[in-house]
Amino acid sequence: MKTLIEMFPNYNIQANVKLGNYTNTRVGGPADWCFWPKTQTELKAVVQYANEQDLPITVLGNASNLVITEDGLAGLVIFLTEMKQIKATGNKIVAEAGAWIIETAQMAYEYALTGLEWAAGIPGSVGGAVFMNAGAYGGQIDQVLESTDVITIDGQFKTYSAAELSFGYRHSLIQDTGDIIVSATFALKPGKRIIIGAEMADYNERRAQKQPLEFPSCGSVFKRPTGYFAGKLIMDAGLQGCRIGDAQVSTKHAGFIVNRGHATGSDYVNLIQHVQEVVYQTFMVHLETEVRILGRK
Ligand SMILES: Cc1cc2nc3c(=O)[nH]c(=O)nc-3n(C[C@H](O)[C@H](O)[C@H](O)COP(=O)(O)OP(=O)(O)OC[C@H]3O[C@@H](n4cnc5c(N)ncnc54)[C@H](O)[C@@H]3O)c2cc1C
Repeated sequence: MKTLIEMFPNYNIQANVKLGNYTNTRVGGPADWCFWPKTQTELKAVVQYANEQDLPITVLGNASNLVITEDGLAGLVIFLTEMKQIKATGNKIVAEAGAWIIETAQMAYEYALTGLEWAAGIPGSVGGAVFMNAGAYGGQIDQVLESTDVITIDGQFKTYSAAELSFGYRHSLIQDTGDIIVSATFALKPGKRIIIGAEMADYNERRAQKQPLEFPSCGSVFKRPTGYFAGKLIMDAGLQGCRIGDAQVSTKHAGFIVNRGHATGSDYVNLIQHVQEVVYQTFMVHLETEVRILGRK
């Protein structure tokens, strides 16, 4: 049996890659294989081969919404960060999955298109944002997405309209299908650049004031429980500043867990569980994780 590198010598495939070098938290053990496709054709070929070889596949965008444990990930990790073209035509923007959602919002500003202002400070990819139905300040992907192109787990191209994606709060159908998002089309509205730009600047200023952007993190760890704010519950339970190893509940925003230096994935997982237990004992509210926790298991 040929290895992935022998099979695809001209593709950017590497063995035994430390994932902590690529995650926003800076934690994560080794992946058996990592692949950075430049085109959909490369992606499709490798997905089909991995399927033939029964290699598990994990797709990552900017790795800003996950915690990977120190045992790393088995099989093939696909980073879509090299597929990052963004094009504007009329009121639409088509972005490849690896493009930054921040740059997509910036393109909307340049073309005086309104609808993506809220995304101007989210450090994820377009694919990750669609997968998570990312949102902020009253805006959300499902309000502006027209359709998304995917490669299915068995290596076929397919297009979903937004209506087919069963969007919910931080949920999309892709979380259930395992498809790989390759691009997204956003339908925006004509606006005024000066207003769009001012709104983006305002949101980014609010982020800088409230969020611990000076430390590595994975954003808000928990979903917003109905009727509460996760950060407030954590603060009121006396957990702000609570630390396991180098993972710490942020002293600036209790909904974030920051890496104070050399945190491991287990530090994160243990602290997440501790916060869930204490908040449940104190308020009888279950905090469900928004971040995705990955490992070999
Ligand atoms: C400082 C900070 C602030 C944040 N603020 C916000 C915020 O305001 N609102 C918000 O919603 N989120 C926020 N986030 C979380 C995160 O940035 C978003 O959820 C983002 O959309 C995730 O994109 P990503 O590319 O980093 O996804 P990743 O973390 O790489 O992946 C997340 C999940 O999506 C899957 N995935 C990624 N790309 C694809 C693809 N192409 N096809 C199929 N599956 C895919 C992965 O398998 C994984 O399960 C913040 C994070 C940080 C660190």
